Amino acid sequence: MRFLSGIQPSGNITLANYLGAVQNFVKLQDDPKFNDILIFIADLHAITVPQDKTVLRKNIKSLAALYLACGLDPNRVHIFIQSEVPAHTQLGWILQCTGYIGELERMTQYKDKKEKQIGGITVGLLTYPSLMAADILLYDADIVPTGKDQKQHLELTRDLAERFNTKYGDTFVIPEPYISKTGANIMSLIEPTKKMSKSDPNPKAYISLLDDLNVIRKKIKSAVTDSEGKIYFDEENKPGISNLLTILSCITNVSIKDLEEKYKDKNYQDFKNDVADAVVAKLEPIQKKYNEILNSPLVDEVLDNGRDYASYLANKKIAKVLNKMGLGRKK
Ligand code: AMP
Repeated sequence: MRFLSGIQPSGNITLANYLGAVQNFVKLQDDPKFNDILIFIADLHAITVPQDKTVLRKNIKSLAALYLACGLDPNRVHIFIQSEVPAHTQLGWILQCTGYIGELERMTQYKDKKEKQIGGITVGLLTYPSLMAADILLYDADIVPTGKDQKQHLELTRDLAERFNTKYGDTFVIPEPYISKTGANIMSLIEPTKKMSKSDPNPKAYISLLDDLNVIRKKIKSAVTDSEGKIYFDEENKPGISNLLTILSCITNVSIKDLEEKYKDKNYQDFKNDVADAVVAKLEPIQKKYNEILNSPLVDEVLDNGRDYASYLANKKIAKVLNKMGLGRKK
């Protein structure tokens, strides 16, 4: 079985990306049922909103190093940059011509991001899910591990694949989402009803994996909670505390129920201290490894190998798609 996933290099990778995505990739790479794993850097998705070219380049390399520092093993996982495999854009266009505007306009992420855009909404912000569908369908991925926020896009991917298969005959594998129960939705530290996002204008809202460890402690200590003073999970009435419980549970692998029991007589300050200790203990070795490899030849070697492997698979698939659709000349 094959699994595939990606992250946009649109800013500093956050704890939400780690807990919602990368930590799962690292666990799944040890699952023997997956004999082929592709993890990519979704740079083409990043340009749906304005990017500074120097920062983007830096973020691409940084994300590659972070994947490795977080524990992805290049002997088991193919890591590559999306824009280095042009078949993604080719199939993305074809899937734009397979989907309908109404379907895309219904995507909640589009609606959210559209509201935040100043200075115009790019066409790409709307059609982004077609490109995401292409990323997945090009490789016949069976499983796509993501956070809950991508579930709707995955459903669209399945619809597009089924529509194409019905019209042109069996071409694409219909992918299954893989959303881990905890960590599927990590929320902002200052507005815990909103998801934690690396593009949040307020850096206090998120923890970057590369934040200074003291800054991380400060951000957790100033996380918005409530005035009740009791620690238990209730997303609706206690979104801040519930978010911290989710974070602690994902990091320590202790269930939320057990954490509630452990902290039932503790105050918020002690609880936050423990959350901060757990996050720092998790991120310290990742940061150390990141700093060791960022400027080593390893990162480029891994990306070159990943590009070659992904191109091999993607080119075979795109040739099949073009042929089925009557595009170009018969081969
Ligand atoms: P993105 O940052 O949009 O490229 O997302 C990369 C991965 O991180 C996807 O699998 C997302 O589902 C996951 N992710 C992003 N934000 C969150 C969040 N707030 N909570 C959990 N997972 C998230």
